[in-house]
Amino acid sequence: MLRLPPFALHQPTTVAEAIAHLAAHAPDVRVISGGTDLLPNIKLAQTRIQHLVSVKFLEELHGVTRTATHLRIGAATALQDLADDEDVRETLPALAFAASRIGSPQIRKMGTLGGNISLDTRCRYINQTELWREALGGCLKSHGTECHVVPGGQGCVASLSADTVPPLIAYGAIAEMVSDKGIRRAPVQDLFQQDGTWHVRIAREELLLAVEIPLPEPTTRVVYRKWAVRQSIDFPLVSVAVRLDGADGVLTGGSIVVSALGPRPRVLPLNAMAGRKIDEELAQALGQLVYDRARPLPNIPYDAEYRRERMVIEVRRAVRVLAGLPERPLAQQA
Ligand SMILES: Cc1cc2nc3c(=O)[nH]c(=O)nc-3n(C[C@H](O)[C@H](O)[C@H](O)COP(=O)(O)OP(=O)(O)OC[C@H]3O[C@@H](n4cnc5c(N)ncnc54)[C@H](O)[C@@H]3O)c2cc1C
Ligand code: SF4
Repeated sequence: MLRLPPFALHQPTTVAEAIAHLAAHAPDVRVISGGTDLLPNIKLAQTRIQHLVSVKFLEELHGVTRTATHLRIGAATALQDLADDEDVRETLPALAFAASRIGSPQIRKMGTLGGNISLDTRCRYINQTELWREALGGCLKSHGTECHVVPGGQGCVASLSADTVPPLIAYGAIAEMVSDKGIRRAPVQDLFQQDGTWHVRIAREELLLAVEIPLPEPTTRVVYRKWAVRQSIDFPLVSVAVRLDGADGVLTGGSIVVSALGPRPRVLPLNAMAGRKIDEELAQALGQLVYDRARPLPNIPYDAEYRRERMVIEVRRAVRVLAGLPERPLAQQA
């Protein structure tokens, strides 16, 4: 049985108190929300930390509120509450769907949006016990000097596997962080960097308060598709959010966000395709676009080339849903 090492748990009741704990103990400190990612990683000695600051009793971080222009979702909102929220389901259906496909009912009741955005990267060589990793000589993320995914590579390319991130980016979400230096806001798209050892640009001293998502125009629609081997308790092996803007079946803009590649999602703007009809031809063209511009790595299970083909299929399926076209049997999708 894997045991948790000793650590100090701080349970502030105000944001000011939480920030003070983070500032006092950085860099040897982490925020803990649902703990569904952090605690297993501590048990696996993938993360070593002396201080945890809980957000459980910080009221401002819980729940969904609507303003005239935005939906604001507190970072400590449970994934199941997000998936069940009527406002989110109606206004941001792709986000509600993504939340509903995470883990299992227990994981969604414990796990939160903030924890999902900051979910540690995953790799078949790091999500193992310390004993297993040492047998291989470690890696750049675990006391070693080489990457087993990209031999000779200078950086860790472990995969961003958070289900809510692609739809958040597609909807243009803004993250709000606070630290002893004040409030900072940044598009969720800009929160990620190409370093699988620390891929989220949220400093140890910072607390993610909430994300704000602009209310989409009626002409904007987003579909999220996740491919995993199992229908439950499975991280995405390919995930795509397709956003198409346009009225009367004609595209005016949008984007494709592809994830489960490396540490950062790939965002492909579709402005250059404005004026095209939203139809089967567009589904084929966007499938080709992701095939050319986004490439899965052998960092998570399943053959990378198969995942690449699968990514194309998921993009085409998303476009067909948005175009109101019937689904085609898998054999006819190549
Ligand atoms: C069996 C199993 C299946 C899973 N399946 C999926 C899946 O299908 N898809 C998926 O996306 N995830 C999955 N997960 C991962 C995880 O459960 C979710 O990503 C969940 O949303 C993590 O949220 P949490 O609140 O538990 O995060 P925690 O474990 O509490 O924290 C995760 C990280 O986020 C940071 N963090 C949390 N809140 C804040 C904040 N407010 N400010 C700053 N940093 C913060 C923590 O410091 C830590 O680094 C699975 C996990 C398990 C154990
Ligand atoms: S991508 Fe390379 S460095 Fe990163 S966890 Fe995997 S094997 Fe280690």
